[in-house]
Amino acid sequence: MEWPRVAAPPGVAERNWRDWTWQMQHRITSAAALAAFVAPSDDERSAIDALAGRFRFVITPYYASLMDPNDPACPIRRQVVPRLAELDDPAGLADPLDEVAHSPVKNVVRVYGDRIAFCVNNECALYCRYCLRKRMVGEPAWAMKKRELQIALDWIRATPSIRDVLLTGGDPLVFSDDKLDWLLGELRAIPHVELIRLGTRLPVTLPCRVTEALCRLLERRHPIWVNTHFNHPKELTADAAEAIDKLTRAGCPVGNQSVLLRGINDDVATMKALCEGLVRMRVRPYYCYQAQLLEGTAHFRVPIERGVELFRALRGRTSGFAIPLYVLDTPYGKVPLTHAYLRGREGDSVVVESYDGRIWREPNPL
Ligand code: SF4
Repeated sequence: MEWPRVAAPPGVAERNWRDWTWQMQHRITSAAALAAFVAPSDDERSAIDALAGRFRFVITPYYASLMDPNDPACPIRRQVVPRLAELDDPAGLADPLDEVAHSPVKNVVRVYGDRIAFCVNNECALYCRYCLRKRMVGEPAWAMKKRELQIALDWIRATPSIRDVLLTGGDPLVFSDDKLDWLLGELRAIPHVELIRLGTRLPVTLPCRVTEALCRLLERRHPIWVNTHFNHPKELTADAAEAIDKLTRAGCPVGNQSVLLRGINDDVATMKALCEGLVRMRVRPYYCYQAQLLEGTAHFRVPIERGVELFRALRGRTSGFAIPLYVLDTPYGKVPLTHAYLRGREGDSVVVESYDGRIWREPNPL
């Protein structure tokens, strides 16, 4: 099956459209600019104004081209265009995972003994309305000066138990090649850092960022694993497939971390199409996160029981490795949210349930 290629809009030269720096310089930041791609609804227009001081509104032209121009319920539009519903979430918190309290130095989050999330950057190519780190992304106070990056690197050097470093943000691939190469080189020079992971949404939102030069740079710093963030089958384009192909040919295993979002991907058919499309692209669906109790996101949240049933409905109906683990992130780490297939013990047998609800008693003496 061929994925659609996202064409340059009339009047934009192809070479500019496929240049990630051009895309970054021409990002959409106002209702007037958005109107070149879609007909903004009254709700969207009002929300862009009302939320301007709370969370940045920025979209790449590439990602805006995936939007349905006439449907405000479009799953691409809903991820990145503000809605007035963001103002109506009394339960939402700024930092539901208590990341600030888990930071030994600025922008390093440590929940587990052997690994950290290193928020190297406060910038993204666009800003997702449900972003877990909306308290910091796009906020100048959270930008990392080179001196602060050095302090964090010093902390990693002085902490030999850290073997796995996730570079996240924001988005580390928004860095220039030179800056990223410097940072990867510093990490690679630390003997106890075995694994470097990149958490990036750019293969989805700005796939032309994955250049040959970037891939050559990554090849020199292996092992590097990439986790990206597709949420909907509409994001599976020929452009994204090309970016993934380059990364995998450069030796980076690529996984996907989606978020379960109400009205976007919280139905079996959409999630199945997303996961099977990812596998065809050679991306392993890794985690699907329960949306956090995060300020301004009540309209995205799904009851956990419904999420469990959704992933139960995929089990046995598609390749096992196409099904991500549905998880709830907590201040104590990730908790798998799965149907209880293990039903308990009956004497010398363990009782289990198959994907289609049949009961099996497995002899298993204690
Ligand atoms: S790309 Fe990731 S870090 Fe950036 S706004 Fe979206 S969810 Fe947040």
